[in-house]
Amino acid sequence: MLDLGLPLNATDLAATPLPGVDGLAGDSSTLLAIILSHGHRDHWGLVPKVNRQIPLIMGKATESIMRAAADFVPDAIALDAAQHLKHGKQIQLGPFLITPRLVDHSGFDAYAMEVEANGRRLFYSGDLRAHGRKSKLFEALLKHPPRNIDTMLMEGSSLGRLANDQSFPTEDALEELFIGRFRATDGMALVACSAQNIDRVVTIYRAAKRTGRTLIVDAYAAEVLKATEHSSIPKPAHGWTNLAVFIPHSQRVQLLKKNIAPIVDTYREFRVWPEQLADVAHRSVMLFRGWMMRDLDRAQALTGARVIWSQWDGYLTTGSAGAMLKSDCESRGIPFETIHTSGHASPGDLKRLAAAVSPKRLIPIHTFEREQFPDLFENVALINDGEWTEI
Ligand SMILES: [Zn+2]
Ligand SMILES: [Zn+2]
Repeated sequence: MLDLGLPLNATDLAATPLPGVDGLAGDSSTLLAIILSHGHRDHWGLVPKVNRQIPLIMGKATESIMRAAADFVPDAIALDAAQHLKHGKQIQLGPFLITPRLVDHSGFDAYAMEVEANGRRLFYSGDLRAHGRKSKLFEALLKHPPRNIDTMLMEGSSLGRLANDQSFPTEDALEELFIGRFRATDGMALVACSAQNIDRVVTIYRAAKRTGRTLIVDAYAAEVLKATEHSSIPKPAHGWTNLAVFIPHSQRVQLLKKNIAPIVDTYREFRVWPEQLADVAHRSVMLFRGWMMRDLDRAQALTGARVIWSQWDGYLTTGSAGAMLKSDCESRGIPFETIHTSGHASPGDLKRLAAAVSPKRLIPIHTFEREQFPDLFENVALINDGEWTEI
């Protein structure tokens, strides 16, 4: 099975049924494994409901980031991998030969996959894009596409969100935008972004460094960055500058309650304390979330601050935590703006991908706009959810 996510439009886990696949709920008969392309909830969210005997396969960094997040995010979960996906390293599972390909996506350690069995070949795009920090991977995929693909399952998240002839800004372009806004900020620049969007954290870190500022992260982000186990990703570890760790009050309480306070000891020399925040505000950027406003207020570190929303605007709808932050900023007179780019390929890049792979049959997945597929791509076949099809 390739991915087992909680659908983006599902309201809750308990009410969402598992797909009708033998062995998911009861004893496994022919189900060999569940392969998770990356660590986004819409790709693993239903896994907690399945039979625990089913082996899980995912990237090594995906496994460790999920484990790190589980200590901090209320409904996150640590999953144990039986095997790891690695770029280009083939995995044989019964009759299936699986070739993972690392892709550019807002989720770290994300893979597309070729699956071959009995002479038939399938290519699964997973979630991917061409405008992030690993755009070279997308171009390499176009240059050396999987060959003789019978069926391609391709995501179409951007359809309906972006005009078919438009493109998303690159992470590099965002870096320049951040630099401009950090320079125009007298006090602390507060960036609301997911700590698990590693590409974005790197973009913000680079912009901070280039403007002589230090990026301040909380313990959750620090643990996620460490979990990437990747030498080019900034983290509170030996050799890294312009990086500091601030632990908000409620996080400190939570660490003590969970008996995991010692995890922050390893980066003691990177810590910035509440009484220092006001002094360092003008040369700092903080990776933050709305509830941290209380700590900043108490530390009198909000003078001249600016808030930059660096995630999907959909999270700003009425009643959401994002909307609350926005109105909090309005009442405090703190400027609030959005700097963001999508984690998914534009329609134009999807067209380039579909043309390069040139499958005999292209099935839309991961989209709210599958009716647009036949106009954009060749050989499209629409298959309904829950419907079986032969490759
Ligand atoms: Zn994703
Ligand atoms: Zn997804």
